[in-house]
Amino acid sequence: MSPSAAAPRACLQCNRELRADEPHVAVQDGLFCEACAGQLRAELARLEASQGDGVNYPLSAFGGVLGGALGVLAWWGFTVATQVSFGLVAVVIGYAVGHGVLRVGGYRRSLGLQGLSATIAALSFAVASFLVNRSFYNMSAVEQGFELLPPVVPLPLAIEVLKMGASPMDLIFLGIVLYEAWRIPAPQRLT
Ligand SMILES: [Zn+2]
Repeated sequence: MSPSAAAPRACLQCNRELRADEPHVAVQDGLFCEACAGQLRAELARLEASQGDGVNYPLSAFGGVLGGALGVLAWWGFTVATQVSFGLVAVVIGYAVGHGVLRVGGYRRSLGLQGLSATIAALSFAVASFLVNRSFYNMSAVEQGFELLPPVVPLPLAIEVLKMGASPMDLIFLGIVLYEAWRIPAPQRLT
C-alpha cells in the first residue's frame, strides 16, 4: 500500500483510526493496528501449534512402521525382480513412512512426529539396504557355491552386509528418504 493522506487508515479488526505515524501492519485490503496484528499472530501461532494436539505416538509409530514395511517391500521386490539395485526407488520409503505416520496417526502434525517419522525411515532404509545386499550376495553365493546368508544375522555381520556395495549415492538417497519422512508430518505454516 502506498501511503497517502487521503487513504483510510482504520484498523481492519478494531476499526480504530490510526495516527499518521502509528506503526501498523499493511495487508492487501488495508492495515491492522499493532495490537490487533499481535492478537492475530498469536491466534495463528495457537492454530499452528494445535496441529500437534492429541498426538497418539503408538498409533503414529504403527503407521510409520506399516509404511516403512511397504516401502521396504517395494524397493526389495523391485530389486529382486529386476536384479538392478536402483537406489532411487528407495526414496519411496521416506514417502511411505511419512504418510503412514500422518494418516494412521489421524493427520496430527508436530516436530515430535517429524522425528519419529525420520527415525523409522532411517531404520527402514537400513533394513531395505540389508535385504537388497543380502539378495545380491545370495545370488552370487548360489553361483559360486558359498553358504547363503539367512534373513536374520548378528548385528556385526549385518553391518558388514550393509557396507557391501555402499556408495556415496546411497547417502544422497538416504538424505532424500529422511527429507521426505521429515517434511510430510511437519506442521503446516499459516503465514
Ligand atoms: Zn486494531
